[in-house]
Amino acid sequence: SQIFGQRKNSLGLNMNIESQGAPFFEKVRSYQNNQWQGGPIVNGKLVETGQRVGVTSPQQSTHQIGTIGWADAELAELALESANKAYPRWTNTDVNVRADALEKLADLLEEHLHELIALCTLEAGKTLQDGIDEVREAVDFCRYYAIQARTLMGKGDKLPGPTGETNELFVQGRGTFVCISPWNFPLAIFLGQITAALATGNCVIAKPAEQTGLVAYRAVQLALEAGIPGDVLQFLPGKGAEVGAYLVSQENIAGVCFTGSTNTAQAINRALAARTGALVPLIAETGGQNAMLIDSTALPEQAVTDIVGSAFKSAGQRCSALRVLYVQDDIADRIIDLLKGAMQELLVGDPIDHKTDVGPVIDGIAKTNLEQHIIDIQHVGKLISEAPMPEYTRGGTFVTPTAIEIDTISQLHRENFGPILHVIRFQRDQLDQVIEDINNTGFGLTFGIHSRNETFAYDVAKRINVGNVYINRNQVGAVVGVQPFGGRGLSGTGPKAGGPHYLYAFMTEKTFSDNI
Ligand code: GLU
Repeated sequence: SQIFGQRKNSLGLNMNIESQGAPFFEKVRSYQNNQWQGGPIVNGKLVETGQRVGVTSPQQSTHQIGTIGWADAELAELALESANKAYPRWTNTDVNVRADALEKLADLLEEHLHELIALCTLEAGKTLQDGIDEVREAVDFCRYYAIQARTLMGKGDKLPGPTGETNELFVQGRGTFVCISPWNFPLAIFLGQITAALATGNCVIAKPAEQTGLVAYRAVQLALEAGIPGDVLQFLPGKGAEVGAYLVSQENIAGVCFTGSTNTAQAINRALAARTGALVPLIAETGGQNAMLIDSTALPEQAVTDIVGSAFKSAGQRCSALRVLYVQDDIADRIIDLLKGAMQELLVGDPIDHKTDVGPVIDGIAKTNLEQHIIDIQHVGKLISEAPMPEYTRGGTFVTPTAIEIDTISQLHRENFGPILHVIRFQRDQLDQVIEDINNTGFGLTFGIHSRNETFAYDVAKRINVGNVYINRNQVGAVVGVQPFGGRGLSGTGPKAGGPHYLYAFMTEKTFSDNI
């Protein structure tokens, strides 16, 4: 029913489904029965490893969309050695050459738009609008980091001093970065990490999520076509426990960029601490127990549109997604009534149908965990509403979008990464407690607030420890360059992706003090 509205874009075209029309849908659909093949790409060549697995679609579990070869530790060793050998050459390559390649990659992504959207819907279960947004964001990352790198790199900063010497500060890449990316943004975050590392003169070992290796494979093929050398960008799909664990335990890596669960980020942190060798940074972007607060001055219709979008868009599989809605008591019945109505309008189903609002969750394990949570939480909470589930959804890993009223956020013991919204009523004199409870989760990613009292909205938002605050709008879909994205505490290390400080995390600095 297209209930969510559209994503605004910072750079390039503003693409939305309604402006595309039938020819666009047909082009995307023409890939529906494609069989994609992928695998590790080491030194620019596809390597057959003897481990090849079938890839099925979350929307219809019987639909195989291709196969992917998986790398092992031995291949990872080879890739890492080659990348390290390429590093001195790449870091001394003119930044404009690196930035040109990223801009060429952006062009190629746009050229392959329909195939990439089809692949995102088929492999990751993205809806068409989410697929469009995904490619758009990937393009934005390429162009934004290219611009940033051109601005920040290549020339030194002259630093005036009292001594008569010449002092200059330079930045450069650190070495080989291990980039470990999530399945929920298989193209945008995959390429966001890689392009940041490459733009700044690092080599990259890219390890995509196990579930979305084919999207990543196509992205790497296009990056190589755009001019990124094969020894500089190495691609290793495979098991996290095998390939990922091997890479983060190696002495000769220069940093890790990770997006995924808090638990995995903590495991990477431990692995990095246990190694010998250089001290290297971890840039981690993880989950959230994200809240939105509705006060009694809010406009109910606007608030509910934004609640539904924030909680259920992308089937709730965004780390920014709304998990816990606080509604002031005076307005709660009205909001809950509207929410029930809006949830009945949600179309759950075939992601490639442009009318669909909510697609499947990523796989059977996610479905089982989320459905177990829906059962468990009802022991302490009360069901508000469930979206209708058409027949189609039986064939895939769909989870019913569900809203449940609970008493306190402490009844939630983990992030539930799916279409489940928890609702808590509060009274105005409980506000301090509400703020404390949200902060006590230890997460700090997104926070939304709906209020027509600007002073109140800002006062509350300032007291919530998060990286991204959204006032009177939805709280997902951060735009590259405009809403730098990332959190704190259990939600990640920063700096923010798509922001002006991100590239610094991939660089090392060198001061020249010259008394010639
Ligand atoms: N940047 C995305 C957003 O603002 C979320 C990224 C993620 O889920 O990791 O919705």
